[in-house]
Amino acid sequence: MKITVLGCWAPYPRAGGACSGYLIRGGGQNILLEAGNGSLSRMMEFLDFRCLDAVIISHLHPDHYLDLFPLRHAIEGARRDGSLAEPLKLILPSMPVQAFQVLEGYKKAFETTPVEELPLEQSLSGTPVRRLDLGKLSICFVPTKHSLPGYAISFTGAGKLVFSGDTAWTEELVEITRGADLFLSEASGQDQDAAYLGEFHLTARQAGEIARRAGVRKLLLTHFWPEYDPDLLVQQALESYDGPVLAAREGETYRVMPGM
Ligand SMILES: [Zn+2]
Ligand SMILES: [Zn+2]
Repeated sequence: MKITVLGCWAPYPRAGGACSGYLIRGGGQNILLEAGNGSLSRMMEFLDFRCLDAVIISHLHPDHYLDLFPLRHAIEGARRDGSLAEPLKLILPSMPVQAFQVLEGYKKAFETTPVEELPLEQSLSGTPVRRLDLGKLSICFVPTKHSLPGYAISFTGAGKLVFSGDTAWTEELVEITRGADLFLSEASGQDQDAAYLGEFHLTARQAGEIARRAGVRKLLLTHFWPEYDPDLLVQQALESYDGPVLAAREGETYRVMPGM
């Protein structure tokens, strides 16, 4: 499995950059994880949109899904000209209802599945998860603690990748992250922002603490406030985690391999 960072800024991009977007390729699948503004353009440097198997959105904040609107037109056009047969699988939370209903209404473009309708299972640690199998990938969702309903998501195939979504600390996140080969975690703030981020986001140090507690092999920080230096966030994460820590870089591809 490999993951390409399409956009790492939030909630607005740096000049020439994009908001949340990641292309996951592996297990016979091409998955767009998050479709923040600017991510579709960069995705097409790597993959034609017709080659996508699914889009997964962690939550319905604009910096995580706005490019679904241009993607809708791309797919509808391709279906009209016969270069694409089926609508694209779209998996996303069903709340807020208004935003969900707009996207669900684009039936020519998207075959929509709300995360809440996926089967509920117990993970190995006993944490309840929603589960979806795509190709050879097993994908599990646990609720996040954020200002909107959302999910942290694990992808298990040849290797395990976990994406935090947008969230404050939760024990479910630690559990779903356990043993990950790569933990892609939001790092919305520095230590000085801890009180402001409060119940909605993680600081880089907290991302490091989760990585340590969950025994992950590598931590990849993302979801950066554009005015911040990602290298400073890496330094703060390294104070709570002694494994390798990287700052996500747009256009960069990271391999996820068992025991890497
Ligand atoms: Zn966000
Ligand atoms: Zn958010």
